[in-house]
Amino acid sequence: EAKQQGGNRHIHFLPQMQRDREATFLFEKHMREALQRQEFYLHYQPQIDLASGRISGVEALARWAGPNGDNPSPEIFINVAESSGLIHPLGDFILHQACAQNRRWQQSGLPPIQVTVNISAKQFAQQDFVDKVLRTLNDTGLAPEWLELEITESAIMANIEEALGTMHRLRQVGVRFAVDDFGTGHSSLNYLRHLALSKLKIDRSFLHEIPGNRDNEKLVFSILALARSFDLQTVAEGIETQEQLNYLQQLDCDLGQGYLFSRPVAPDAIPTLLAKHNS
Ligand code: C2E
Ligand code: MG
Ligand code: MG
Ligand code: MG
Repeated sequence: EAKQQGGNRHIHFLPQMQRDREATFLFEKHMREALQRQEFYLHYQPQIDLASGRISGVEALARWAGPNGDNPSPEIFINVAESSGLIHPLGDFILHQACAQNRRWQQSGLPPIQVTVNISAKQFAQQDFVDKVLRTLNDTGLAPEWLELEITESAIMANIEEALGTMHRLRQVGVRFAVDDFGTGHSSLNYLRHLALSKLKIDRSFLHEIPGNRDNEKLVFSILALARSFDLQTVAEGIETQEQLNYLQQLDCDLGQGYLFSRPVAPDAIPTLLAKHNS
């Protein structure tokens, strides 16, 4: 009887699975067309030096202006891009766009800042990833020290040997690496000392109810101590309140990003922000 029920349940779920597959297929189709129509673009969120208040860099964040005026969330379309392989053309576009934009800011006479680009696990694992980055720097004329790549713990842990090689080769020419969403993965801390890292980004979830939430306070404190002992810069993600900022400043967190300073903005809003913070 139980077996029969299980069988029925299975049959019952099939149409739903079919619908999900069709929905995913359609979404991928829309994305492929969107790439051709150049509906993807980047916004940039300043990263603030918490001691001086200056902008040290900006994180490039992908946006999609859909044809019906909708803006699908990057959490969703980056995921679909990863599972469909579209992350390769999309990722290439994002990297090129971010480097070219930073070069344009520098050529327009603005004080130089770093641009940070999110790299997904699949992109990072590409055989020709190092060559691609070097070619992009060459094509856009951006000097390597003004590019930082953000990768997650899981992208590193997926193939630690490969990751080590990739990072060392790019680090050698001056490209920097940050670990994104640090603390949310399931990695061994042992890898920290082997990697060519510059920064840890404390995930936004740890700033929830800071100050006050004792568990989050302990986690933030521990991550900052860990980063310091490995000579890594720390970035707090998602600073929304003055109280959070005060707390992080007290603990000597190096950098911060969040709505308190600025939301991600269009590239033409960056010169004004630089004038306000860096002069
Ligand atoms: P992430 O790399 O951890 O980026 C930080 C996210 O937090 C961004 O969301 C940003 O807009 C948001 N954020 C920043 N400050 C605050 C704040 O004070 N409060 C709140 N509530 N949120 C804040 P966004 O732009 O929606 O991106 C979401 C995620 O999508 C990113 O998380 C990243 O994992 C992925 N993503 C975005 N752009 C790209 C890209 O170009 N390439 C890849 N591979 N992934 C991307
Ligand atoms: Mg990021
Ligand atoms: Mg992050
Ligand atoms: Mg995050």
